[in-house]
Amino acid sequence: METRLVAVDPEHPDEQAIAAAAEIIRRGGLVAFPTETVYGLGANALDPAAVRGIFRAKGRPSDNPLIVHLASPADLPAVAVPLPLVDPLARRFWPGPLTLVLPRTAAVPDETTAGLDTVAVRVPDHPVALALIRASGCPIAAPSANRSGRPSPTRAAHVWADLRGRIDMILDGGQSGIGLESTVLDLTQQPPVLLRPGGVTVEELEEVIGPVRIHPAVEGRPAAGPVASPGMKYRHYAPATPCVLVEGEPAAVAAHIATRVRQERAAGRRVGVLASREAAPDYDADVVLVAGSRTDPSELARHLFHGLRQLDEAGLDLLFLEGVEPRGLGLALMNRMRRAAGYRIERAGAGGPHAGGAGTGGDGAP
Ligand code: AMP
Ligand code: MG
Repeated sequence: METRLVAVDPEHPDEQAIAAAAEIIRRGGLVAFPTETVYGLGANALDPAAVRGIFRAKGRPSDNPLIVHLASPADLPAVAVPLPLVDPLARRFWPGPLTLVLPRTAAVPDETTAGLDTVAVRVPDHPVALALIRASGCPIAAPSANRSGRPSPTRAAHVWADLRGRIDMILDGGQSGIGLESTVLDLTQQPPVLLRPGGVTVEELEEVIGPVRIHPAVEGRPAAGPVASPGMKYRHYAPATPCVLVEGEPAAVAAHIATRVRQERAAGRRVGVLASREAAPDYDADVVLVAGSRTDPSELARHLFHGLRQLDEAGLDLLFLEGVEPRGLGLALMNRMRRAAGYRIERAGAGGPHAGGAGTGGDGAP
């Protein structure tokens, strides 16, 4: 299949480009498009064959349900039961990076929800995404537009690298503003359960609806057996290069990584670091990529997936990631970095890094 790459103005998308993309969606095809979180791979959410195409193009396990994107909260009743908490949350956070899990309606096919009796829904905050949904005249199911397991795409070039020849069109609207996927909140439970941290923080949610329970898999390795959100159990966001996340106080993290980099290079390995601007000068690594300031989680979030992809292309043996404080957007950053590292985590601080190379520290390989 030939993939058309079409540039659009992210603020004022060209009507012809949107009309062509919408025509593809209506005919059951696949269009990748920018949102404020990451690029999505869209299909008509109500067309089972079109939705199966998303799973095929991504290589996504068919038991991992998709998020349904709407142009307006007014369109919600067609796909989901609007439970009472939807109203205050939608008023504050939609359009925006908050996905709500709700009881589904009969209009939504099993393919979209992976057979669950709930559906995940959001209204994206991006002129291109909204124009495409409106012009298509249907809700659009869209997971991140990457090959399954890879870091999510924050630029059209990432989508091109992963999905060229597998989808009909990519709308290139520049870089995604947030750079991490939406927050996923399950409203079918009391209190509501945070299934995935993202662009809307727990602190912001609790201002509107009171206490939110954080699912244990958000901060730790998901348990074996049934999971609340199927996406939790898959390897995700991961570069092919082995990756270690170092957690602790910022100065201790920098000192720990600096030592580990020396050890690994002394053992003949080529090492990369995705670094904060503050700590980057401390690292004598083969490649040091600055993701942003450690005082600005939103800058780190914007550059995380691009940084992982760039480091992955540098032909390195091992990558180190700097942990951040898991509060606010930092909770989402840490969730993505823990998963990118396959839960291979080293704690900085007391005693310093273990001697002996890549196999030590942390809780082991996945
Ligand atoms: P992605 O589309 O790749 O950003 O992933 C969507 C995330 O939402 C995955 O982690 C899914 O498992 C999760 N999700 C989608 N629908 C549901 C649902 N009905 N219940 C629980 N989690 C869901
Ligand atoms: Mg994804």
